[in-house]
Amino acid sequence: MDKTSSFSSHEGKPIRCKAAICKKAGEPLVIEEIHVHPPQAYEVRIKIVCTTLCHTDLAFSKYDSGPLARFPRILGHEAVGLVESIGEHVDGFKHGDVVLPVFHPHCEECRDCKSSKGNWCTRFAEDLVSNTRRYGMASRFKDSMGEDIHHFFFVSSFSEYTIVDIAHLVKISPEIPVDRAVLLSCGVSTGIGAAWRTADIEEGSTVAVFGLGAVGLAVGEGARLRGAAQIIGIDINPDKFAIGKKFGFTDFVNPTLCGDKKISEVIKEIAGGGVDYSFECVGITSVLSEAFLSTRTGTGKTVALGINPAAPTELDSFGLFRGKHVCGSLFGGLKPKLDIPILVDRYLKKELNLDSFITHELKFEDINKAFDLLEKGKSLRCILWMDKK
Ligand code: NAD
Ligand code: ZN
Repeated sequence: MDKTSSFSSHEGKPIRCKAAICKKAGEPLVIEEIHVHPPQAYEVRIKIVCTTLCHTDLAFSKYDSGPLARFPRILGHEAVGLVESIGEHVDGFKHGDVVLPVFHPHCEECRDCKSSKGNWCTRFAEDLVSNTRRYGMASRFKDSMGEDIHHFFFVSSFSEYTIVDIAHLVKISPEIPVDRAVLLSCGVSTGIGAAWRTADIEEGSTVAVFGLGAVGLAVGEGARLRGAAQIIGIDINPDKFAIGKKFGFTDFVNPTLCGDKKISEVIKEIAGGGVDYSFECVGITSVLSEAFLSTRTGTGKTVALGINPAAPTELDSFGLFRGKHVCGSLFGGLKPKLDIPILVDRYLKKELNLDSFITHELKFEDINKAFDLLEKGKSLRCILWMDKK
């Protein structure tokens, strides 16, 4: 934990620090000094130690209209941090704790949080756009001119300090290295959780994963941990196949080499009639339709993970009548405060392969290079170190 040792406390006062601001859709982020408010009730201010970027940050940096397009904005939602100060009514967190901010809330008190069936939080999960759930639209960030800066998914980790509501914060063991813990803040937990909690894959199952970014590869890792017999990876970028082998994938399909055949037909041939489980981890609706067609008639289950908020989806209605299932999954169906510590524990027991997700490391100032690497399909996760010079 030597990389986390130095931080200062400005308890109760605003902090001036550096943040990467997305000022306009599609433009590079700009690093500027900002003001971060002290935490209010039920909030914690954290010093980000390192952050990574997920495809969702890339997608939101480009939306130029509609309710999801908000600028200026501090993106970033995969991170690990240290508690710098706490607001009123904050139990269970103290200065110096190692914490993961998570975009998906877990209030632990509402009907859905108390149910074992899913990971919805009725109290807080509906609203993704207002600035803080408990205090309406008051922003926690201001630029040097005193103008508000929008948050992103209640995390905004592309900043040296950020404010997080305790419904979005998980305390973790300080034993896990921070550059492994950061992966569990979104994409990797989502993929593993989808295999484990949403699909509940049984031993000996056949699985197809569309899109081998960090989310899809993590689905493979989750399927491997559940004892799947066959895990087929589908990606238009063949560079992903070698890394897929490290996560237990047994077969690979490149859609660009399938000629006139539909990908679902190729998968049905490989898996003897269709897979038990398929996962869409790209965010393209036609890929979701193919994922659905690839599953076994009668019992097949498709899990939609890729995010494409604008597009309607077409599914084979005969397949639905014949007993196939499809469902979406946010944060892999994981209840953050309950399930992330379990994943940390499995990493510490050397059961979980987190190491192979890290393809690059950069200092925070080079964040636009990390966007470029992800966009070009060259990286899985690039660790951005806040303090590295
Ligand atoms: P990524 O960009 O690293 O990976 C996407 C992969 O899909 C790439 O390897 C790319 O080559 C491949 N691909 C692109 N077009 C394809 C096609 N037509 N067929 C097959 N493969 C194709 O992204 P990521 O960070 O792994 O995220 C994947 C998706 O998951 C994104 O849509 C992201 O927004 C979403 N996501 C969802 C959740 C959730 O809670 N549901 C959480 C995190 C991310
Ligand atoms: Zn809840």
